Amino acid sequence: MKSPLRIGIDVGGTNLRVGVLSSNDLVWESRRQTNFSEICQHNASPEALKRILDTLIETISEACNSYPQVQSVGIGFPGFIDPVSHVISASPNLPGLVNTDLVTPLKERLGLPVWLQNDALAAAYGEFLLIGPDSGSLLYVGLGTGVGSGLILHGKPYTGAHGVAMELGHLIVVPDGRLCGCGNRGCVEQYASGTGIALNYAEHEAVVLDAQKIASLAEHGDTRALRAFEQAAKFLAMALAHVLKIIDVSDVRIGGGLSRSWPLMQPVFLASFEASLIPALRGRIRVGLSNSGDRAGMLGAAMLFSADTCNLEM
Ligand SMILES: [Zn+2]
Repeated sequence: MKSPLRIGIDVGGTNLRVGVLSSNDLVWESRRQTNFSEICQHNASPEALKRILDTLIETISEACNSYPQVQSVGIGFPGFIDPVSHVISASPNLPGLVNTDLVTPLKERLGLPVWLQNDALAAAYGEFLLIGPDSGSLLYVGLGTGVGSGLILHGKPYTGAHGVAMELGHLIVVPDGRLCGCGNRGCVEQYASGTGIALNYAEHEAVVLDAQKIASLAEHGDTRALRAFEQAAKFLAMALAHVLKIIDVSDVRIGGGLSRSWPLMQPVFLASFEASLIPALRGRIRVGLSNSGDRAGMLGAAMLFSADTCNLEM
């Protein structure tokens, strides 16, 4: 008997990926540029919400037209998701989306069950399902427009009491540093994301390039461009080492679009990471690159329907 078909959606600040999945297999996929970040920056929140909803419904309907037997929709969304109400309490990269309910209008308009979870936590769950680590637990770090992360603890996505658990991207690594979309200053995300790397480079070069262009310069021997990546690597390593002092898991996976430039970061990352760990942990953490392509986010989102989350208060 075939596995039921489920839609998994990975919402990013600039991209939207929609997949139809049968168990772990991606049977249909659609990608589009969305610029949700810009929409949220330039529109009042009701208008921004309407445009986000319309885009989601359009792409989901497209999938349903091809696969009318789809049974559910799962969405990984960039923001803090209340673990009980599933309302978006805030989204650092989509300003204005505060206490926003995306699930109810989607359910009403689609007539399908809908699950919503933080995008990095959904990707962590997808990665977990794909690799099935022996330890049963996994910390996933997604490097993209922002820095997201998610913890799977004994097979369950760990949300925290308020949906803010494992926000590694918002650990403060530079006191009074760059202003972050979360409202604080000096967060990892402002140095180690695509946006952060662009800022690292602009600080020395007084020119604004995107992370992809900076990566290309670094790969061709531009030392200042390489330094922008190394700065990212140093802060990411410090933050990750600190998180591991708290949660002490053995398996860490790095994914997201920016992980394609990991070779530029890896040497500095490994040196800073080992130095920042408690000596008892050195050499005992398996940090690997995700090899799921972009699939983990869609897979994890699609399988949220079966995910028994834990937050220690439920
Ligand atoms: Zn922040």
